[in-house]
Amino acid sequence: MKIANIGGRAHIVTATGGVDIEEASDGRFTSDNQQLISQLDELQSWYSSSELAEDPSLSTGSLEKSFDRLQSPVPNPSQVFAIGLNYKAHGEEVAMATPQEPMIFTKFQSSIAGPGATVTLPSDTVDWEVEMVVVIGHSGRNIGKMDAMKHVAGYCVGQDISERTLQLACKPPQFSVAKSYEAFAPMGPWLTTSDAVDISSIRLTCQVGGETLQDGNTRDMIFDVPTLISYLSNICELRTGDIIFTGTPDGVGMGRKPPRYIEDGWLLESTIEGLGTLSNPCRRR
Ligand code: ZN
Repeated sequence: MKIANIGGRAHIVTATGGVDIEEASDGRFTSDNQQLISQLDELQSWYSSSELAEDPSLSTGSLEKSFDRLQSPVPNPSQVFAIGLNYKAHGEEVAMATPQEPMIFTKFQSSIAGPGATVTLPSDTVDWEVEMVVVIGHSGRNIGKMDAMKHVAGYCVGQDISERTLQLACKPPQFSVAKSYEAFAPMGPWLTTSDAVDISSIRLTCQVGGETLQDGNTRDMIFDVPTLISYLSNICELRTGDIIFTGTPDGVGMGRKPPRYIEDGWLLESTIEGLGTLSNPCRRR
């Protein structure tokens, strides 16, 4: 199942468009995408026994018509975790040592944005990082690796946009603020539930200004999703609706010779197999 946020209301994405969940369920389920994550199991069983997918009268019609109203499918998580250097080739291109333990930072919550949101470039050294985002379903502490996937609600495409000058202005580097400018954490285009995709080996690509500059695969993650959930939950309680940016493959701008960064007017297109494409225009401040 795919759940989109269209104009601030939760919709199921169907072959013919989007179905407004609160309306179609006569108020049984919330219209709030963040709250809905706690109702996903119930929603799925209700939806599979309903005939919504076959009833075009409930649909918004072509989803393309709603594309400009898509917002973040997880608009308000209580915690945002992000993993640095989680692909070996990316660590090598930026000349940083392969971590022996997950390297964790946060993207502050106010940096979250949706599909189509304009990324305002505060400088000429803003970089791209396509990443798979994990959305936590069931909360928990001290989750074992074997149980970890039961705590996942689903996945989105994300961008861990980074202002490299600020990131490297201090020693050691400061990741969190440099990655938290306005709209530096776009995600979407919708939430794909965990039963609908096998994320162990899927392709991630990033097109920048029309050129494919990242082309990786989740199988190359150093710390896989069960490991990350187990590791994090042994420190912090993972709560329903929290998100984890799982790291970027190689091909970022900082690792290029000479380095390349996002230019005014470029479109950032991030695609993950089975999860969709997230498009964000970029404009210089
Ligand atoms: Zn990253």
